[in-house]
Amino acid sequence: MRIEKIIVFALLAIVFYACEKVEEKQDIAEKVVVEEPEIMEFGFNLNDFIVVRDTVRNGDSFGKILEKNNIGYGTVFNIVEKTKDTFDISKITAGKPYTLLCTKGDSLQRPECFIYQPNSIEYVVIKFKDSINAYKESKPVKIVQKEASGVITSSLSSALDDAGLSQRLAYDMSDIYAWTIDFFRLQKGDEFKVIYTEKYINDTTSVGIDRIHAAYFKHNNEPFYAFEFETDSVNKVKDYYDENAKNLRRAFLKAPVRYKHVRISSRYNLRRRIKLYGNRVRPHKGTDFAAPMGTPIISTANGVVVESARRGGNGNYVKVKHNSTYTTQYLHMKKRKVKVGEFVKQGDVIGWVGMTGNTSGPHVCYRFWKNGKQVDPFKQKLPDADPIDATLKESYLEYIQPLKAQIDAIKIQLPKEDINEEDAITSIN
Ligand SMILES: [Zn+2]
Repeated sequence: MRIEKIIVFALLAIVFYACEKVEEKQDIAEKVVVEEPEIMEFGFNLNDFIVVRDTVRNGDSFGKILEKNNIGYGTVFNIVEKTKDTFDISKITAGKPYTLLCTKGDSLQRPECFIYQPNSIEYVVIKFKDSINAYKESKPVKIVQKEASGVITSSLSSALDDAGLSQRLAYDMSDIYAWTIDFFRLQKGDEFKVIYTEKYINDTTSVGIDRIHAAYFKHNNEPFYAFEFETDSVNKVKDYYDENAKNLRRAFLKAPVRYKHVRISSRYNLRRRIKLYGNRVRPHKGTDFAAPMGTPIISTANGVVVESARRGGNGNYVKVKHNSTYTTQYLHMKKRKVKVGEFVKQGDVIGWVGMTGNTSGPHVCYRFWKNGKQVDPFKQKLPDADPIDATLKESYLEYIQPLKAQIDAIKIQLPKEDINEEDAITSIN
């Protein structure tokens, strides 16, 4: 208890010290009558206040923060009541930054405004000097178009790392190509190019990738183009199509887990031999995706759950019937999320990776039936998703012309040669 008290006092001391320090500086500035430049942030001139910046700590609440800063419980209660329609104050979370604007000249240095930043773009302002009001705002975001490219030496992630690019691009590209390229089998020498937009605040601070507008992948010496196009301006539906207006989506995803989580540990193999069984042939009619315990397992296509049970070597499993031709099954789940008869959409979570039944490690065994026969999904020519609307095809082809020219003109960035220090020294000499 005593240590906790000491910590609280220490924190209070830091907060007051911060307030005081800023004020001291401003007092001096006032005495020499120097016009201070306006520092605008959150729509305030910060020079008009004593500014305290801090981070929400574990166990902090809006009330605790204000009480620490000499705002009484009654006022806190009023603020919570009056602002609850704009912002639920109980939602402030540890680790997020907040700013207090304290009144200048107030001997207690009480704040008159609390600004909370749930993310790097949005902020919530709660004013409580004379009257109480709250509003949400966003910092102005500048969208900048960028280009990137690279060659695969081992994986897409490491190619992006080598080029100093965000891993978000790997996730987004693997989503765009989730139906067309087997990302588990990228080849050395595969190339990618991408046109994307990135979000900036204050002109220089990147707050992440906005979206990919066009992409190109050379896989197995075959080109794969992808262009984003809005097919429904009312509902803002966007999709990716290739250079011939063919939808990149297919009726089936290539994997029952998101690319970033997994690796394939065992493929469909009718001649698999297992030592444990005296080296007898034990065909493996599924594809095993190794992934950490609890990784979401997704349905690879729309369909209806026809089995959801725990049985023998399968452990917890779910079987989804997609149509009269195709059925898929997902084994060894830690937990199932769906019941028999439930309709599931492509990408819906149906359970979580576990190791129930016969397994030696956490993975999902993915089984794929075509006309009642188990087949290798990676070897199937799977049905296409809906094609682009005929009325839109012409405008699409027109729209992608300059984008395609732009992406074709991107020169592939070759991976930098590793220069070890010895080489560098000899080259200087
Ligand atoms: Zn398996």
